[in-house]
Amino acid sequence: MHTKYIVVLGSLLSGLGKGVLTASILKILDLYDYRVMPLKFDGYLNYDCGTMNPYRHGEVFVLDDKSEVDMDFGIYERFLNKSLTKESSMTSGRIFTEIISKERKGDYLGSDVQIVPHLVDGIIEHIEDISRRRKLDIMVIEVGGTVGDLENGYFIEAMRQLALRHEVIFVNITYVPQLSAVGEQKTKPTQIAFRLLMQMGIKPDFIFCRSESRLLSNIKEKIALYTSTPISRIIDDSDDPNIYSLPERFMRDGFGEELLKALGDRRSINHGKLDSWRRRASAICSKRGKTLNIFIVGKYVELRDAYVSVKEALLHAAGYLGEEVVINWLESEKLEKGHEEDYLKSADGIVVPGGFGRRGSEGMIRAIKYARENGIPYLGLCLGMQMMAVEFARNVCKMRGANSTEFDKRTKYNVIDILPSQRGIDKKGGTMRLGSWKTRIDRVDSIIYDSYKRRWVSERHRHRYEFNNKFRKRMEKAGLVFSASDPSWKLVEAIEWTGGFGIGVQSHPELKSRLEEPAPLFLSFLRAASA
Ligand code: GLN
Repeated sequence: MHTKYIVVLGSLLSGLGKGVLTASILKILDLYDYRVMPLKFDGYLNYDCGTMNPYRHGEVFVLDDKSEVDMDFGIYERFLNKSLTKESSMTSGRIFTEIISKERKGDYLGSDVQIVPHLVDGIIEHIEDISRRRKLDIMVIEVGGTVGDLENGYFIEAMRQLALRHEVIFVNITYVPQLSAVGEQKTKPTQIAFRLLMQMGIKPDFIFCRSESRLLSNIKEKIALYTSTPISRIIDDSDDPNIYSLPERFMRDGFGEELLKALGDRRSINHGKLDSWRRRASAICSKRGKTLNIFIVGKYVELRDAYVSVKEALLHAAGYLGEEVVINWLESEKLEKGHEEDYLKSADGIVVPGGFGRRGSEGMIRAIKYARENGIPYLGLCLGMQMMAVEFARNVCKMRGANSTEFDKRTKYNVIDILPSQRGIDKKGGTMRLGSWKTRIDRVDSIIYDSYKRRWVSERHRHRYEFNNKFRKRMEKAGLVFSASDPSWKLVEAIEWTGGFGIGVQSHPELKSRLEEPAPLFLSFLRAASA
């Protein structure tokens, strides 16, 4: 079959969960055994997400192939249980770079290069090229930003023109507010959103309505009437504490069948896949076992999206083990005045996630010391491993002022130092040690081997600093275990405490945790927290 397209557009405001909706549609199609792939447009002029602040933009997600992409990619991968590539990401920065370099080559000689046709044609050709090479049944395209923004206007125009050449189904997500004073769901914003989209030449085939409580049937009717859309294609997308239950919920509401109809296809669902998904999705919210109090101690905790993969990895593992996890977000700076006990005494486990910059690092070190001295299971991810090494150097090996040179250039004990390959790099974009790297597990009597039960593992990375091997012998003698390495880079990949559960890894195992395949280290961390 020729590739068909589903385009997801968000109206009215950001934060409606367009990424989750796109991932749910991908999952539903996957359950019907379609060959699918997501494509995400992002309207910013950055070449990729790597140079953005997680505080503003949420987590920077890293793919196997070294690309630094939008956090929505994490949602797609966690739903699809597939690793994606940079082909799925298209930013304005990248598309403009391509067009301008073509112009410089003389590809458009004689013409004035314009948004229409040149840029829009460039976008469409890109899409067609991927669909052809990947032999896709369906590509699901998420247009970043909100309809009406300046930034994504040309992407939306490209989608209108895509529909002139191919079969395209438009999915619009809108917001149905419920005013507390009147207690009534209001359809006017959706009506206005619809008109704006129509002005741009696009008539949505499906309208997903976000709301706080279930969409009332008279409200559905009203929206159907005002948008000339069959009522069966107005879909309730009201709040749900468990995002993984959404694909099934949408299908229960008839969306699967309606979508097949819109695609002009008949086929039945893959029941094996559906059962496995359903089992895992329902485990996320069912409260069976213990309640585990996990503290995430970081510097970006105010914006939860900055650590979304860590949070999801904890949920996947807890669901798998049949436990409930309560995540406590703790701003590491708060610990810098001491009183760790006051904050952490109820912790069953402590995680220090990745991060950059000095702010809050001393608080992380205090949290780690507290975990080590009180036998609280500890999991350090990237910066969390580096700070674990610094804590051990200072407090066990008595290397006063030990630090990472990221935070203290002149420390005598630079137990964490810049990667040799990073010296002399002055460009910031896409230059870290990125993507998937193979790690060799050097010791079988270790937490890491117990977790993976393999000698070689592959996890994703994103860092410029590393453990300084100069201090390895001394720290090993003092009891720190070096359990895994990257032999080709001569890099320490994992350190552990003996006695008690404490492990830090240079990688980000949270990035590969999927609902159907929880990350092994998170499983063993929660097992320890539960014990
Ligand atoms: N800032 C540290 C480094 O660059 C850690 C990075 C991270 O946690 N992703 O090495």
